[in-house]
Amino acid sequence: MARFSGASWRPIPINHTKNGQESVRGVVVHIMDGTLSGTDSWFRNPDAQASSHFGTGRNGQLFQWVDTAHRAWAQAGGNRTWLSVENEGRGGDALTSAQIDRCAEVLAWAHKVHGVPLQVASSPSGKGLGYHAMGGKGWGGHSMCPGVKVVAQLAEIVKRAKVLTGAKPTGYQPFPGADWFKKEPKSAVVTAMGKRLVAVGCSAYKTGPGPQWTAADRESFRKWQRKLGDAPAYCDGWPGKKQWDALKVPRVS
Ligand SMILES: [Zn+2]
Repeated sequence: MARFSGASWRPIPINHTKNGQESVRGVVVHIMDGTLSGTDSWFRNPDAQASSHFGTGRNGQLFQWVDTAHRAWAQAGGNRTWLSVENEGRGGDALTSAQIDRCAEVLAWAHKVHGVPLQVASSPSGKGLGYHAMGGKGWGGHSMCPGVKVVAQLAEIVKRAKVLTGAKPTGYQPFPGADWFKKEPKSAVVTAMGKRLVAVGCSAYKTGPGPQWTAADRESFRKWQRKLGDAPAYCDGWPGKKQWDALKVPRVS
């Protein structure tokens, strides 16, 4: 028996297979093409022949309809080995940030309880956070569920789940490319770089490093280039690959 204490327990008496969950490869993301309350009623209707373990609302509600010991009926051939999370919204909608948080909580919980790896899955033979359409015909041929916008958000769900479980990314952040910095990006990568520049004594920051690339980042990096002994012509403050790699910026994603 496994219920997530972070979800409102909303058991449905029908439309699932008792003790039918054979294994858990991962969690499958769906879009309701409807509302949370409408879906809650529909799963109690014998005509539905459908259910899902979890469901989110656009304002951040989280329901659990089916205990994960039982098999919910959400993705046909994928039901025996995958859990499911339905999401309030119309086909083609992106998830709200609150829904991404709830999905991340479900994934983090499934990681702890069922050993689901914190990664995006792209086929029924994979593991992690998958989506309905990846199952093709065998999963009912729902090619529009949950839609391209939601599929593009799966990496963010995984990222937030990693934060929740305290899993730290390992290794160093790969060089994002010289052009990337010239776009003056706003990114956690810039913050991580800034912290390293401070640590190696090359800070030109007045208020500390932040996610927005600024003139202070460029000046700090220029100091790093000088410290590396690069020819003055190359000390322009724009990171190159060799200088970046030498800085050993911890991986942030
Ligand atoms: Zn679906």
